[in-house]
Amino acid sequence: MKTVICPYCGFGCKLLVDPQTLIVKPHKGKPNRGKLCPKGLYAIEFALSKDRIKKPLKRDKKFLRPITWGEAIEEISHRLLEIKEFYGPDAVAFIASSKITNEENYLLQKIARLFGTNNIDNCARLCHEASVHALKTTVGTGTQTNPYEDLENFGAILIWGYNPAETHPVIIRYIKSAKKKGAKVIVVDVRETITMNFADYKFIIKPGTDIVLANAMIHTIIKEELYNDDFIKSRTTGFSEIRMATMKYTPQYAEKVTGVPASLIQKAAKDFALAGSGAIMWGMGLTQHVSGVENVLAIIDLALLLGYIGNKGGLYPMRGQNNVQGAAYMGALSEFLPGYIPLENEKFRKRVASLWGVEDLPTERGLYLTELWDAIERGDIKALYIVGENPAVSEANFTRVRKALRKLDLLVVQDLFITRTAKYAHYILPASAFCEKEGSYMNSERRLQWSEKVYEPLADSKPDWEILTLVGKALGLPGFEYSSVEEITEEYFHLFPELEEKSVKDLKEGKEMFLPKKRLHTWEFATPDGKARLIAVEQIPPWESTNEEYPFALTTVRLISHYNTGEMTLRSPSLTKLMGEPKILINVEDAKDLHIEDNDLVEIETRRGKIRMRVKIGKVARGVVAVPFHFKANKITNNALNKAGTPEFKFSAAKIRKL
Ligand code: SF4
Repeated sequence: MKTVICPYCGFGCKLLVDPQTLIVKPHKGKPNRGKLCPKGLYAIEFALSKDRIKKPLKRDKKFLRPITWGEAIEEISHRLLEIKEFYGPDAVAFIASSKITNEENYLLQKIARLFGTNNIDNCARLCHEASVHALKTTVGTGTQTNPYEDLENFGAILIWGYNPAETHPVIIRYIKSAKKKGAKVIVVDVRETITMNFADYKFIIKPGTDIVLANAMIHTIIKEELYNDDFIKSRTTGFSEIRMATMKYTPQYAEKVTGVPASLIQKAAKDFALAGSGAIMWGMGLTQHVSGVENVLAIIDLALLLGYIGNKGGLYPMRGQNNVQGAAYMGALSEFLPGYIPLENEKFRKRVASLWGVEDLPTERGLYLTELWDAIERGDIKALYIVGENPAVSEANFTRVRKALRKLDLLVVQDLFITRTAKYAHYILPASAFCEKEGSYMNSERRLQWSEKVYEPLADSKPDWEILTLVGKALGLPGFEYSSVEEITEEYFHLFPELEEKSVKDLKEGKEMFLPKKRLHTWEFATPDGKARLIAVEQIPPWESTNEEYPFALTTVRLISHYNTGEMTLRSPSLTKLMGEPKILINVEDAKDLHIEDNDLVEIETRRGKIRMRVKIGKVARGVVAVPFHFKANKITNNALNKAGTPEFKFSAAKIRKL
């Protein structure tokens, strides 16, 4: 049996795959402990799809024709160097993938930086970059603070804007186990989710009112003197500002704004504080707002006020794709070097440069993934190299993205399928699937895991690391002589003090390996004075407001059998059988007003366009419509960005019309 990391979510389940039959079974070890969700069970199916690209393709006018690898690499590198010579290195941008291995992400950001640009980013920008910014500012480290298993020992779990029962189904077992031991579970969302089946408190709030609810909970905790005085005095700064700022956020005020009864806000805040220890888990419901960074700051304040960090609690920004944590950690972000080290850190930057055989690396922040489309429109970006990402569907307001893609002088897409994005490409390079290569992945808790090769790459496809090695070499970059994936693993191990003494052999043999070095029970805040920052935040309204013409607040949600833009799940026959037709969820009273019944076809329109979908009447706040994120929702979502560059996928003013 081969041990392979699930190619879907960031929980990081290990699959056991029989190389002869390709039957998948759950691995008994951590983190999945003998369980898998349907996506993991049927993970191999998309890799066997007849739609896989088998040879490098080049566009000749409207048609794609097969070319050899030699021709493809030669022509692509020649065009990239030409563009660099004419417009400078910042006219080229690279998009990494949260689905490829650490080694492959590491290589792509290395290519970008040695090429001379920090225009390297990945889809973390669309999900948890707001969490990274808030966590780095407050506790000094931009990642999840504790392993999953700690969840089972906390007295309370607050789940905010996050529906693990559908997005990370296996983690529900940890939550259930905590509940069995008596933990109180509070779930906050804009609709009734399956996760709420496990909740003691189900708070269905109006979209964009998270800060008001968090501040009202803080207000209650301060008023009732339930905060952890010792922790606040010895380990934090900013308490008096928080006390002042949250005075006006009474539970009664919060009831009016959020729709949650004041008495329940008070009761939940007290239960959370009196539990003595607690975790806060959150997802895109918090981060995909123009107030994304501030939303996360507000819930971190809540945790710090109670000293819920380290052995008393944990902060869990739950990662979306299987290697989004790894992609970010390996440096596939435009504002950070590997390990989230800022570009301005000269000592580290020069250390990386010397490891790579050059004197220094570019210092200016690169463009965020979400800033690229305007930059292409302006003519600042001429070439884009995309690995395993599908912005023509995944970006907010995607019509403008498609327009920008058409404008490029050079678009290279490295992927398994001719995705919606690849349809605009000048060159398409066939990558091998996850089960056709080996390498390491990092899950949401920063567990490093090795994934084995189950069978040889399909047809003429190549593992991404091999393709990137060829490209780096053809570009004339130093050090691109890798003949095995382990050589790249060894190289990135040297960059991180946490890994320096570890061996790749141990990783391959499945020995437990975490970043950071120590479990965080003796938490040291990585801030200049070693103290965590409590940062007061005020309510920030969504970018758009509802009005007579657009009376609904549209938000996006995820479904258990679908995954992101559907390129993988729609090619899995077992998963497509499980999926129903994606439907828009609306409140029963709103449905009555609009004379809409279950399953009716409606048109949903925002300021950016229209889509059609069938209706499901269900438990969602009045005035809110929830649209499955997969496939076409982003035609109408809002691309207004927060401070971390994440679009406001979770709020667009919309109208609905029965067809
Ligand atoms: Fe894969 Fe996530 Fe499901 Fe585990 S929970 S099997 S990692 S999709």
